[in-house]
This record gives sequence, C-alpha cells and structure tokens, in this order.
Amino acid sequence: MDGGMTGAVYLENKGFCPCCRKETTFRSESDWLRDNYICLQCNSIPRNRHLHYVLDTKFPGWEKAKIHECSPVNDFTARFASHWSRSVFEPNVRPGSMHNGVRCENIEAMTFADNTFDIFITEDVLEHVFHPDKAIAEIMRVLRPGGAHVFTVPKQKWITHSRQCAKLVDGEIEHILEPQYHIAANGGGSLVTWEYGYDFELLLSEWAGNVPVETHRMLDRSKGIDAEFNEVFAIRKPDTGGGHRWLPRKLKPFWF
Ligand SMILES: [Zn+2]
Repeated sequence: MDGGMTGAVYLENKGFCPCCRKETTFRSESDWLRDNYICLQCNSIPRNRHLHYVLDTKFPGWEKAKIHECSPVNDFTARFASHWSRSVFEPNVRPGSMHNGVRCENIEAMTFADNTFDIFITEDVLEHVFHPDKAIAEIMRVLRPGGAHVFTVPKQKWITHSRQCAKLVDGEIEHILEPQYHIAANGGGSLVTWEYGYDFELLLSEWAGNVPVETHRMLDRSKGIDAEFNEVFAIRKPDTGGGHRWLPRKLKPFWF
C-alpha cells in the first residue's frame, strides 16, 4: 500500500493537528494520503490524527487513564499520557520479560493481569496477527470494566467477507492467499495475515464476546483527517462497576 511519490505537492492545507496539538501545515506529495499526508510539525499521518481525535472527543481525560499501546511506532500518545506503557512482540523472547528496554508480549497470550488498563491502543496491528480472535479476547481480558480498545485497521470496501491470508502450521507460515506485506516500523516487511472487509465489525464483536464495535469515520482536512481506510474503531468493555467512567470534559473527573 504505497503510492507513487512525485515530489510535487498533491495536497496542502493549514489546520490544527490532534497529535502535536499545534497549528500546522498538512502536506502530501502523493495521492495515497494514508501514508503520505503528514503534519509538518510532528510527521503524523491521518490514522494517527484520527485516533487522537477519537480519544479527545470520545474519551475525554484519557491523558490520565492507564494506557497500554501494542507495538507503537510513535510517541503521540506517550507524550500526553501520565500512565502509559508499551509492549512489542519478539518471537524468541519470553513474554513478560524485557528486551532492549522494552517489555515483550504476545498479544494473543499476554502476561498482564485481568482488568489492568483503561485504554488499549493498537494501530494497524490486527491485520498482522495469526489469531486476531485470541488477540481481541486478550485485550478484553486486560481492560478494566468500562475501559476501551481503540484501534485502526485497514477495512477494505471490496471484500465482503474478511479472510485469513496466512496461518501458522506447526510453527511454519502457510500462505492461503498471495503474500502481501506492509512496511513495518523497522523498514522490513510485515506479513498481512488477515484482510478485513464489510463484516469486520460483526466479526470483531463476536470475538470480543458480543460487545458492540463503534466505527468512527471522518473527513476533515482542517485536522488533517483524510485518507483511505481511515476508520477508527472502539470496543468498550462492559462496565460492571468499579471501573473507569468517562465524563464530559467540562465535568472535573473526581477519581484521579
Ligand atoms: Zn502534528
């Protein structure tokens, strides 16, 4: 998923960036906005900004919540959050242990206790895991009641039924469809294991234990939010009491 770079400006406008919270200029030198429509102040791309806009508007006060981010490639959340942690997957490192200063976790079988986080963030992760059903169930387990998984995934309009593209058989990758790779944080290729389509929310809802999936869709260039497959999804863990409660920003949160 990489557009042709021409060097010419395809799109440029001024606005306010939800990631760096500054007046800025948004610019793209490609018609593929998803990876190229950047904030000139912080280099964020549209999905980063849309996710932050959803945090700001749907989860006011998120900066003080206990947040975990799986495989983040930027510090847009970390720079404003007071209780933030992250983890990455390293195939040969024991889950729960540290590697090069970063906690390693397998999102399909995490070592965190139940009811640990208020917000769990994944950006373009679920199309690269072999068992997204297990990942979603795990995220629901580690969220506190009333907490939320806020995430991005490319949902493709021309696919009616989400489909698995590759699976693990005795530890070996078996390709079901022609292999596709997205550019990973380290510059390498990250294998696409699932392609998601029209039924995405239904599937995720089922995996989360019949919890509704919210879909946020927006096109607002004044916030740099315009791109293909730029939806932000949220799944709220049912609030059975004792968990986090989200209040409108104008009300002073009393639990911190
Ligand atoms: Zn910015």
